[in-house]
Amino acid sequence: GAEIVFDDVTKTYPGQTAPAVDSLSLTIPAGQVVMFVGPSGCGKTTSLKMINRLHEPTSGTITIDGEDIRSKDETELRRHIGYVIQGGSLFPHMSVRDNIALVPRLLGWDKKRVASRVDELLDLVGLSPERYRDRYPRELSGGQQQRVGVARGLAADPPVLLMDEPFGAVDPITRQRLQDELMSIQEELQKTIVCVTHDIDEAIKLGDRILILQEGANIAQYDTPANILAA
Ligand code: ADP
Ligand code: ADP
Repeated sequence: GAEIVFDDVTKTYPGQTAPAVDSLSLTIPAGQVVMFVGPSGCGKTTSLKMINRLHEPTSGTITIDGEDIRSKDETELRRHIGYVIQGGSLFPHMSVRDNIALVPRLLGWDKKRVASRVDELLDLVGLSPERYRDRYPRELSGGQQQRVGVARGLAADPPVLLMDEPFGAVDPITRQRLQDELMSIQEELQKTIVCVTHDIDEAIKLGDRILILQEGANIAQYDTPANILAA
């Protein structure tokens, strides 16, 4: 994992007067799972997307292990930061293998290495490689698509994994299973995981720390689940 620091970060979208994120300062420790919770519109997704530069801050600085993310080019960002969103957001015209191989291929890995990495990742997320690597997303259940989405996010073994409502699109039982799987994967891999959720139970279950935000991404609480429950 890697440490992520927000230093006085503000984001005002074009044409808006109120900032979506207002002077956010925050340290996300290396190797921890930090869950972002709070009401709709409070700035969770905007904050998350600034970490991999899908959005640019209007002012302030974000660093990963002390390095300003603006100093990293696109390829370097993809190598350092995996990204998983609701439903897996797989490319429908691409096989499971091709979806997972996106970033490794972008990074110029040779064919053999890509192929063995794809199989390794399918095993990791509990899908038989022989059975699933040549399927298309429409031939998978929602939970399986989400598993492939996680595999894709982890493909280049990035120190940081960003997740936005990762299990929001599946039924409650599948969600619990996916959460359990993520926890056991994390035990092994020790990524820095930043995860947006509206589900407080998910935050308590998965988080080493929970960040509770109010409008403008103002911090209401930032603590361990145990301390938040005790407060
Ligand atoms: P959350 O993830 O907590 O629901 P968001 O980060 O999506 O919150 O949104 C924060 C605020 O910024 C909201 O008021 C939302 O309407 C606004 N917003 C989000 N994305 C954009 C955008 N691309 N352009 C303009 N306003 C946006
Ligand atoms: P950034 O400059 O941070 O990369 P953009 O300005 O490209 O972000 O915003 C992404 C897109 O989202 C824009 O094309 C915008 O049209 C669209 N958008 C506008 N308002 C909203 C909103 N309230 N919620 C979500 N998306 C929005």
